[in-house]
This record gives sequence, C-alpha cells and structure tokens, in this order.
Amino acid sequence: MFPPAFDYRRAGSVAEALDLLAALDDARPLAGGHSLLPALKTGGADERVGAVVDLSGIERLDGVSVDGGETVVGALTTYADLASSATLRERARVLADAAGEVGDRQIRNRGTVGGNLAAADPGADLPAAALAADATLRLEGPDGGRSVAATEFFEPDGGTAVADGELLTEVRLPGASGAGGAYAKKTHPASGYAMVGVAAAVKASEGVVTAARVAVNGVTDPPTRLPGVEEALVGDPTGADAAERAAAEATADRDGATLVGDVHASGAFRAEVLPAVAERALTTAVGRARADGDGDAGDEDDADDAGAGGGR
Ligand SMILES: Cc1cc2nc3c(=O)[nH]c(=O)nc-3n(C[C@H](O)[C@H](O)[C@H](O)COP(=O)(O)OP(=O)(O)OC[C@H]3O[C@@H](n4cnc5c(N)ncnc54)[C@H](O)[C@@H]3O)c2cc1C
Repeated sequence: MFPPAFDYRRAGSVAEALDLLAALDDARPLAGGHSLLPALKTGGADERVGAVVDLSGIERLDGVSVDGGETVVGALTTYADLASSATLRERARVLADAAGEVGDRQIRNRGTVGGNLAAADPGADLPAAALAADATLRLEGPDGGRSVAATEFFEPDGGTAVADGELLTEVRLPGASGAGGAYAKKTHPASGYAMVGVAAAVKASEGVVTAARVAVNGVTDPPTRLPGVEEALVGDPTGADAAERAAAEATADRDGATLVGDVHASGAFRAEVLPAVAERALTTAVGRARADGDGDAGDEDDADDAGAGGGR
C-alpha cells in the first residue's frame, strides 16, 4: 500500500528540526518510522501529514550517557542499543530489559525510545518501563525546553504531553532506579506488542526490598503505576505475594485510566493474566535487587539467566 505524497526533509540538529517543523505545513518528526510509516500507508495517522522531518542525522540525540547522578538516554537511541548498553543495564535495568522485549530484531535495530514514547501505543513496552524507572522526559520546542515527569506524560488514547512543534529529545533517569529492574510481558503472537506488560524497578539492602516502582502497559490506558503493589513489595522477600495484588490494583478505578479491551484480548482476560506476568517481573527484579544490594555478582548472574522473559 502506498502512502499519500508527502515532503521529506532531513535535519542535522534539534534547532534545524524545530525550524522545519514550524515552517512546513502539517509536518511530523520521523524517527525509526516503524509506527509513522505503517500509519501513513494504512491511513491511520491522526491527521494529514504534509511533510516528515527525519531526525536520524541528529547525532546528539543518539546514545546513553551519564550526567551528574542521572542517566541520559537520547531520543534516537534504538532498542538494540538500549538493550545492550552496559551503562543502562547497571543503572536502569528495567528500561534495558523492556527494550530487549520489543518486537523482533528488525524493529529493535530501527525503532527508537523517543518514537516509542511519543507514539505511546497502549501495547508498547517502554511506557511502563519509563514509569518504573522514574523517568523525566525532556521536550524542546520553539519557545525553549521543559521537563515532564513520566507520570504526567502519558494521556488516554495514545496522547502525550508532546505539543505540536515540540520534540522529545532525552529521557533522564535518576541513578536510584538501579540494577534491580525487570520487565515481563504476555506478547501478542502476531505483532509482538504487549497484551500485558509489567515493569518493576526495585532497590534492596541486606536482602530486604526497601523501595519499588511498578507499572503496567497493555492493561490500562494510559499505562499506570501500581502503588499498592509497590507498597506490598517493600519487605516481601521474593515479590510473589505482591504480584497477587496486581490485578485488583490495575482494574480499580484510578485517575481516569481505563482497562484496555479490544479484538485481541478482553479487559477481563488481561486482568486474569496480569498476576502471572507480574510475578515474573517482580521476582526477577527482586532477585536482581538483592544481588545488587549485597554486591553479589554471582547471584545477579543467576537472576539474569532466569530472566523475566517474554510470554511468546
Ligand atoms: C511489526 C511491528 C511490531 C512491533 N512490535 C512492538 C513491540 O513489541 N513493542 C513495542 O513497544 N513496539 C512495537 N512496535 C512499534 C515500534 O516499536 C515503533 O518503532 C515505535 O512505536 C515507534 O518508534 P519509531 O522510532 O519507529 O518512531 P516513528 O514511527 O518514526 O514515530 C512514531 C511517532 O512518534 C513521533 N516521533 C518520533 N520521534 C519523536 C521525537 N523524538 N519527538 C517527538 N515526536 C516523535 C512521530 O512523529 C510519530 O508520530 C512494532 C512495530 C511493528 C511495525
């Protein structure tokens, strides 16, 4: 299927991309193209697209670095680079894990963290990981930059805090999210998207969980944190008991988030599957956090081998 004709421009810097987005009629940023191009081909883009502004030449938006205490992930960093980044695996394991679970090898080599979060598909893997990692999203626009907490970024029906003419440039993660993270999903067998995805970032000291952030995607629209599960995890030696609470929490009426149900799986099915997926994510995250807290690389390797894994 061919998309309608549109103009193509390639930007070499954020400033140039912002100028092009402002100057061209109905212009949209283009990152990996794995959501935008299929949408254009099938007529699924929300509005007319007169031009795409290709961001792939903006080098400063590519890669993982450390700035002070924060981990900084450029918006153009691919899933493959996220998943294999030693820095990210050490400092925000949950995001590296979730990136490794996206789609297939082709998608992971091309799709970007910025495109994933900006497209905000309810079944996408990275939104829950961004919530669990306590991410802050850096947006730049014609009037300057602003930072939005992940908890304020996602809106119902795939909406986000990104305004017209703005770019998501960085994902910033506090050092505190740590190596005790994991992501698990029940995968849609055809598309690879998450029917149920659970992201957990856990800190432990002397074998005891001291802090946790847990979030879901695929289950609620928009993706949400599960504060009751987070509370239950503190002091839970394995994470298995806390996982039991996940379904009740996700289906509770919470801040306007609704249960996702579609032709692929009803809301009731997703809620039914959620505790099993949560148990995989939580027990893996707790195992890694305890190994990390104890400085025991051997245990951490064991936890790695077990992995939270996908649900294919
Ligand atoms: C077959 C298939 C399987 C897939 N499986 C999965 C899966 O299992 N899990 C999953 O999470 N995703 C999956 N995806 C989606 C894939 O991850 C996309 O890559 C992702 O949703 C969009 O990232 P992108 O870099 O390709 O962005 P693009 O498609 O280029 O852009 C997506 C949207 O975000 C906007 N945008 C892009 N970058 C920015 C930016 N920096 N600032 C502001 N706006 C921006 C674009 O204008 C567009 O509206 C799948 C896609 C396909 C085709």
